[in-house]
Amino acid sequence: METKYIFVTGGVVSSLGKGIISASVAKLLLSRGYKVTVQKFDPYINIDPGTLNPYEHGECYVTIDGRQADLDLGHYERFTNIKTTRGNTVTSGRIYQTVLDKERRGDYMGKTVQVIPHITDEIKRNVKHFGKKEGYDFVISEIGGTVGDMESLPYLEAVRQLRWELGKNCLCIHLTYVPFISAAKELKTKPTQHSVQKLQELGIQPDILVLRTEHNLDEDIRRKVALFCNVSPEAVVQSIDVPSIYEVPLKMQEQKLDETILQKTGVDYSKNPSDLTSWNDFVNRFKNATETVKIGIVGKYVELQDAYKSITEALTQSAAYNDRKVVLKMIQSANITEANVEEQLSDLDGVIVAPGFGQRGVDGKFIALKYARENDMPTLGLCLGMQCMAIEFARNVLGYKDANSTEIEINTKHNVIDLMEEQKNVLNIGGTMRLGEYDCKLKEGSKVAAAYGVLDIKERHRHRFEFNSAYRNEFEKAGMMCVGENPESGLVDVIEIPSLKWYVGTQYHPEYNSTVLNPNPLFMSFIKAAIENSKR
Ligand code: GLN
Repeated sequence: METKYIFVTGGVVSSLGKGIISASVAKLLLSRGYKVTVQKFDPYINIDPGTLNPYEHGECYVTIDGRQADLDLGHYERFTNIKTTRGNTVTSGRIYQTVLDKERRGDYMGKTVQVIPHITDEIKRNVKHFGKKEGYDFVISEIGGTVGDMESLPYLEAVRQLRWELGKNCLCIHLTYVPFISAAKELKTKPTQHSVQKLQELGIQPDILVLRTEHNLDEDIRRKVALFCNVSPEAVVQSIDVPSIYEVPLKMQEQKLDETILQKTGVDYSKNPSDLTSWNDFVNRFKNATETVKIGIVGKYVELQDAYKSITEALTQSAAYNDRKVVLKMIQSANITEANVEEQLSDLDGVIVAPGFGQRGVDGKFIALKYARENDMPTLGLCLGMQCMAIEFARNVLGYKDANSTEIEINTKHNVIDLMEEQKNVLNIGGTMRLGEYDCKLKEGSKVAAAYGVLDIKERHRHRFEFNSAYRNEFEKAGMMCVGENPESGLVDVIEIPSLKWYVGTQYHPEYNSTVLNPNPLFMSFIKAAIENSKR
């Protein structure tokens, strides 16, 4: 089958859930047996979001081959169960960088380099790469930003050209918003009409409209939108608020969005019926869970839940598979003190100490970890959280009061966390960390090995500092064991205190590897321990 290209654009306002819609479309097509991939175009000039503050852009996701990426890639993986790689994430910065490198090499043979055709051609090359080189049946490209933004213009021009070139093999889904004006008690379609007009001005006629709404849209509204926007009535679907994002593919399927896509791209939709059995099972378990498990997340970006998206989703997934609903308590680490730690943590069944960078909030993490360790509370330390576990243990058990990470105190005498050897000469901070998937060998008999059920695992990393192996023996003698390491370098990847119920820290990020159909084993084990603890 020829590759079909689906573009997903958004209008009216941002935050409508384009990523979830793109991921849902991918899920529906996958469930019919097609080979599908989803990519995200981000219109900002940063090369990748790695240097962005999470308050700006939420969590930074990491592909298996070590690209730092938008958090939407996390949705794509959670929905499709397919690991993303560098081609799935493209920014304007990277497009420009490639074009400028070519210009310096002289590849343009004396031509004036311009947005059209050179930038647009580079965008098109990134879209078509998946079809041509990797043979996908469907390539779904989500265009970041909102129609009307100056920054998205080159992307929309590339979409216009591709639609012209690809004909029936190309489809545009536009996501808009239908507000409810409570004073008039009316749903308003005007913003949708204007947004579609804006697209039409740019030469793009959307084929399918997804209307985001908080209230049910009746037939009349859909027919009106279809009429004003030149789309067929069955191609107007609503995306109504649902309790869980994982219900969105089911809602889309109820409205036959997958059939409409197949029909419009000339694929016989009666041929491959979709199979969503395991997805449905998950959603039912999630919905039917009545009991709860209370987990605290200690971090410094807690005001913005998107900053810990993969962590909260991994918790939701593993709680659902244990027939529980997770109740999250977001705890600002900068506000934790010796005096209030009991009050902040004592009602929890388990606690996660979050990843992060820099000094702010780490003292609160040390206090929380001391409390969790001394009170034998199930605890998972992720990346900086794991490093803080080691530092707290060195200070309060080994007795090195000044123990620290050289990231926080460069001159510390007890550098239990230190810069990795290969990082010592790195000058630029962008994209130079230990990034992507690495092998890890677990120690037989450890809690982590029991959790994974195997000894050889692969997980994703994003850090510059590491556990200082010079201290390994001392830690182990005092009861904190190094139970996972990289087989080539010997870098310590996992620590645990076996004498406690569940106290594990990972230098890697298991949260990036947790999907609806494959919840991460470490999160599953952590949630089980927290549930056990809730019965105390
Ligand atoms: N700041 C730490 C490091 O660079 C931890 C990074 C993280 O938590 N992702 O090693």
